[in-house]
Amino acid sequence: MLTPQLEELIRRMPKVELHLHLEGTITPRTLLELARRNGVTLPAADEAGVAALFRYRDFGEFLDIFMALARAIVSGEDFERLAYELGLDLAAQAVCYAEVMISPMQYINRGLDLREVIEGTLAGFARAEREVGIVLRLALDYGRQYGPDRAWAVLDVVRQTKALGVVGWSIGGNEIGHPPEPFAPIFAAARAAGLGLMAHAGEVVGPASIWGAIDALGVSRLGHGVRAIDDPALMLALRERGIVLDVCPSSNVLTGAVETWPAHPLRRLYDAGIPVTINSDDPTFFATTLSEEYRRALLRLGMGIDDLCATVLTAARAAFLPPAQRTALAERVAAEFRTLRAELGV
Ligand SMILES: [Zn+2]
Repeated sequence: MLTPQLEELIRRMPKVELHLHLEGTITPRTLLELARRNGVTLPAADEAGVAALFRYRDFGEFLDIFMALARAIVSGEDFERLAYELGLDLAAQAVCYAEVMISPMQYINRGLDLREVIEGTLAGFARAEREVGIVLRLALDYGRQYGPDRAWAVLDVVRQTKALGVVGWSIGGNEIGHPPEPFAPIFAAARAAGLGLMAHAGEVVGPASIWGAIDALGVSRLGHGVRAIDDPALMLALRERGIVLDVCPSSNVLTGAVETWPAHPLRRLYDAGIPVTINSDDPTFFATTLSEEYRRALLRLGMGIDDLCATVLTAARAAFLPPAQRTALAERVAAEFRTLRAELGV
C-alpha cells in the first residue's frame, strides 16, 4: 500500500514514455467501433467480449492476437483517432512527451498506404498537442520476421514523412530465429536519414540478441533488454556506452520474458549503473497504464521515489529529439518534480 501522498505523487508526477505501440493502446470500445465501421468481424459483439479477446497464454499467442486486432484499423482517419485518443489518455496521466511505435508491415501486407497511416497518426498527435499540450513523436517498428529486404521501401516512406514528426527506427516482432545482424545496412541508412535507433532485444532471446543490436545496429536504446542480466560483460558494456533500456515491467511478467515479479531485474540493472526507463508497451493487452507501471516499480520492484525521478530524467535525456529540446524537457521534468515533492512533502 502506498500513502495518499505517494499515490498523488505517482498520479501527478511528470512522465516521459519511450516504449509504446499505438496498436496496443486501442480501447475495447474503439476497437469495436472501428471493426463495425470497417466491416471487420471480431469474435465478440460487445465491449466486455472484446476486452476478453486481449487475453493470451504466451508471447506467440500475444503476437497473433495483436496482429488480428490490428486488422480492424484500416484508414488514415482510424489512425488519427487512435493517436488522438492516446494523446488525451497520456496527458491525463501527466505524460509530457511520448514516443509511439507503429508496426508498418501489418498495414503494407493488407494493402494500406503507409504514407496515409503515418500522416493520419501524426495528424492525431498534432491535434492532441494543440488541445492538451502533450508532445508525441512517431517511430517505425519494423517486424524482423519480414527480413531486411522489405524494410527499404518502409524507410523510403519514412524519409518522405519525417519532417511531420517521425523520429525513430526500430525492429520488433519475433526475436526467435531473427537476429539483428542482417539489419545492419538498413539501420545505417536510418541513421544517415537522421532517425534515432532502437531495437527490441533481450526480451525473448538472451544476451546474443542484445550484443547484436548494440554492436551491429548501433542502437542507443533497447526495447526491454532485461536478459542483459544474464551477462556481466554485457551489463558493463551497456553502462560504459550509456545504452538505455526501455523496460516494460508488466509486459515482461505477462509475456513470460521474466518469470515472476520478484525475479524482475529492473532494480539490479539500475543498481549496476545502466540507464533504465519505465514504460507500458501495450497497455490494453497488459491491463496497465504508465502510472500503474511506476506504482508497480515502487511497490513490487524495490524502486524508491528518487529512483523513479531518475528514470523519468533518463527518459527525457534519451528521447529522439534535437539536443536543445531534450535538455529543455529534462529541465522541465526536474523542475516539476521539485515543486510537486515540496508541495506533497515526499
Ligand atoms: Zn515493444
